[in-house]
Amino acid sequence: MRAVILQGPRQIAVETVPDPTLPSPHGIIVQLEATAICGSDLHLYHGDLPGDGVQLGHEGIGTVVEAGPSVTSVAVGDRVLLSAVVACGICGPCRSGDPVCCVRSMINAVGTVPQYPGAQAEFIAVDHADAFVRKIDAGLTVEQAVLLTDILPTGYLGAKMADIRPGASVAVYGLGPVGTMAVHAAKLFGPSVIYAIDNDPDRLLAAAELGAQPIDAREIPASQQLMEATGGRGVDAAIEAIGHDSTVTDATYAVAAGGTVSVVGVNLNMALPLPMGLMFFKRLTVRAAFAAIPGTWDALVPLLQQGVIVPDSIFTHRMGLSEAVAAYELFDTHGDGCRKILLDPSS
Ligand SMILES: [Zn+2]
Ligand SMILES: [Zn+2]
Repeated sequence: MRAVILQGPRQIAVETVPDPTLPSPHGIIVQLEATAICGSDLHLYHGDLPGDGVQLGHEGIGTVVEAGPSVTSVAVGDRVLLSAVVACGICGPCRSGDPVCCVRSMINAVGTVPQYPGAQAEFIAVDHADAFVRKIDAGLTVEQAVLLTDILPTGYLGAKMADIRPGASVAVYGLGPVGTMAVHAAKLFGPSVIYAIDNDPDRLLAAAELGAQPIDAREIPASQQLMEATGGRGVDAAIEAIGHDSTVTDATYAVAAGGTVSVVGVNLNMALPLPMGLMFFKRLTVRAAFAAIPGTWDALVPLLQQGVIVPDSIFTHRMGLSEAVAAYELFDTHGDGCRKILLDPSS
């Protein structure tokens, strides 16, 4: 089969690799129908994380073509969506949709390490399918099913962890795909205003179309603009969806006393200096989390089915898997207004 393989910094290729085989009696093989490129793929693409030789991609949906005898929740022929995040699949937290708290500490993102070949391919193997896949519910679009594999749950958890109360003011740092999902999700909690922060005028415009107040952070720090906008008080909650040290820090300056900073942008810095004095005197709550994807599905699916959240327009481009080299370049450079790319594994 064909799959997207990382060869080195800014070097990927569509290669022919062996078809996957059933990993265990609990596993399935899925023929992929759609996949996507994610901002977190860029950490590998840029060489920020090691990964030469890895089969990329963690956002995939498709049809089960083979199922192990122990799989009970899905069968051959079912259309399924896959969790981007997996772990042991058998401990209590894994079986209740929270692989982040896997007691065996086996959490991983698919398509970032050799032992979990990714979804930018024609086929993928998923072990412990009962814990990490879901039959695609009636009424969901292809785009919505793909968004449920990672970025909509991540944006939703960003909003949920931000303690947004009705009437609160919220700031979302970063209007890439995850930040845009966080804007959609923040609205569920009834804020009076959502400030949307980015450096890209097109992305600020798109956030304004969702009803957010755009804040262009190119020249004046966002925290300074947020302080002015809130009469010097600060916002009640900030969601950081970029993963930069500077935006995590800026969010702690932007939040009002007693407020919450919720970080869902991937930041693996083990030595980030945090303004402890600010956090101490302002009694801030700071949370950071890798999203426990499957645990969000029961909440998000009805919201999509009822049209409460309609996030499909984040996909600006549709390309074939064979065009992956050009697709990564376009996604990385935001060329042609690119915000998110849906890849067709069959072409
Ligand atoms: Zn992703
Ligand atoms: Zn586990």
